[in-house]
Amino acid sequence: MSYKNVCLSCRKAFSRGLENHKPRKCPECGNDFIPYNHKFRPPKKEDLKAWQLVSFLYEHGFTYQHVYKDLSLYRLYDMDNLAEYPKTLDEAKEFIVKYKNQARSEVS
Ligand SMILES: [Zn+2]
Repeated sequence: MSYKNVCLSCRKAFSRGLENHKPRKCPECGNDFIPYNHKFRPPKKEDLKAWQLVSFLYEHGFTYQHVYKDLSLYRLYDMDNLAEYPKTLDEAKEFIVKYKNQARSEVS
């Protein structure tokens, strides 16, 4: 699965192919890239609010990976069961509580 390398400090996303699977460092600030789901649509660099939301979700283990409304009904690529990612910080606060058990554990 392809993914995007994202630098939250520079608010930039770099597309990467399958071969570069190791997280690299951002050429601009030297921070480690964060691998994001290829479906992630990076906001515009100037859109601070949108990036604040992205960072907030990241801090709680969400990098736009698939999140299922009901995990007990889990089937691969069941689009009806996919939860929509929040568009505002308020929605995000509910989202991280509701889907806490689906947060990625490698980020804390
Ligand atoms: Zn950077």
